[in-house]
Amino acid sequence: MKKITSRFPNLKVLLVEDYFINQEVTKDILELMGCTVDIAEEGNSALEMARKNPYDLILMDLQIPNKDGLEVTRELRKDPGINKKPIIVALTASALDGDKEKCLEAGADDYLSKPMEAEGLEECLRHFFQNQLVVSS
Ligand code: MN
Repeated sequence: MKKITSRFPNLKVLLVEDYFINQEVTKDILELMGCTVDIAEEGNSALEMARKNPYDLILMDLQIPNKDGLEVTRELRKDPGINKKPIIVALTASALDGDKEKCLEAGADDYLSKPMEAEGLEECLRHFFQNQLVVSS
């Protein structure tokens, strides 16, 4: 695995993911980059946590129990109670072209395909949070 050199020690991330292995892998990568990570396993708790906490980034699996990731994204985007607008990146297992459009239409800023790779996630954070990047050797 490529060595991760980017650090984002001020980023608060909500990882919405129902599959344990994916939770562990993604959380590990984020923590290597110094992020603080909370996990929601299904749609209703994802919404509740996102409403209570000012996350910088929400990684949103599309296939989760109760409400799917697109539905949660739509609800968050039209919620006037959220005073800090998080970056939302959808996580999708299929790389079908239509999927990306659906994500963006729902209000996501971008999407990443699974399985999650450290390099892709690092690049994504560098893209959206360049101003918070701390580079270490
Ligand atoms: Mn899932």
